[in-house]
Amino acid sequence: MPNIEKLLQWYDINHRILPWRSTSDPYKIWLSEIILQQTRVDQGLNYYLKFIDKFPAIEDLAHAGEDEILKLWQGLGYYSRARNLHKTAKTVCHQHGGIFPKTYHEILKLKGVGPYTAAAIASIVFDEPKPVVDGNVMRLVSRWYAIDEAVNSASGINQIKEILAQLIDKNQPGKFNQAMMEFGAGFCKPKNPDCFQCIFKDQCLAFQKNKVAILPRKNSTVKVKNRYFNYLFINFIQDGEIFTFLKKRQENDIWKGLYEFPLIETLHETGIMELLRNNEEMIPGSPDQLVIESISKKYLHKLTHQRINTCFIKMEFNGSPGENAYPYLKTPLSTIRTYPVSRLTDKYLNDCGL
Ligand code: SF4
Repeated sequence: MPNIEKLLQWYDINHRILPWRSTSDPYKIWLSEIILQQTRVDQGLNYYLKFIDKFPAIEDLAHAGEDEILKLWQGLGYYSRARNLHKTAKTVCHQHGGIFPKTYHEILKLKGVGPYTAAAIASIVFDEPKPVVDGNVMRLVSRWYAIDEAVNSASGINQIKEILAQLIDKNQPGKFNQAMMEFGAGFCKPKNPDCFQCIFKDQCLAFQKNKVAILPRKNSTVKVKNRYFNYLFINFIQDGEIFTFLKKRQENDIWKGLYEFPLIETLHETGIMELLRNNEEMIPGSPDQLVIESISKKYLHKLTHQRINTCFIKMEFNGSPGENAYPYLKTPLSTIRTYPVSRLTDKYLNDCGL
């Protein structure tokens, strides 16, 4: 059995100095945990600082507009996290009198908070002995105990949870959780960990049995779907000013709440003429008033379960937008950078020099 005292000592000496580690404010810990879901610490740190600077207290976040929050979140991906952050801030302010819930089960009821985040907040802020189970922790435990079950199977996860329930330091559960995550991320890395220098090499069964390279085992379940996005970047002049069209994504799909150009999604890559011919209703005015100015290179955006294959078609529109311009937002091109957009659109705008 690994010596947890040794782990905590290692953590004392080696942990990274991060702003959310020097606070016990549940708002700040919660914010950091939401930002760090699916995000590396070096990338998330800057966002955390920007959020705390703009919204120093949960009330400030609750009173902000959704567009303002999404704009600040821009580039971080998984935008449902930002929308849920906003909803939870409102819930805490309006239903809990501004006091963050104090127990694992109460925290778990908050929007956007799963078992991992609830355990992290409950243990770090409120000393509740709830182990966190993230990828780093699962890898570490599966190697310590040479667990052959897949860590993404129900029985594999249960086995790891049972072990963690035994291992957790009941007096310092927050420190235990952070040390497990830090050791997993920083030392027991997925590939080529430096086992000969490891403080656990005498207790680690994967090392003893020469199984480090094959653990943790995982069932491959991820099916990746290809999607094809064709954006119409339509420019037109009115009263001497250049305008374009934008639309806020409302559907329960990726990037909900972000703005984008009129989008035609197709089942496969489609030629430009066929695309416009089959989607005339998407075009404001009549097709003969449109001049295609450029077709962008292909932009590929990879998500866990989706590959978004994208091209942007830049067009000049010589006329006034007709009735079918609805539901698009007629937007002065000079203000386009004030809208929250996906990283993909952000890249394209950068490439256009906008
Ligand atoms: S000996 Fe290697 S595999 Fe085992 S805990 Fe240490 S770094 Fe990880």
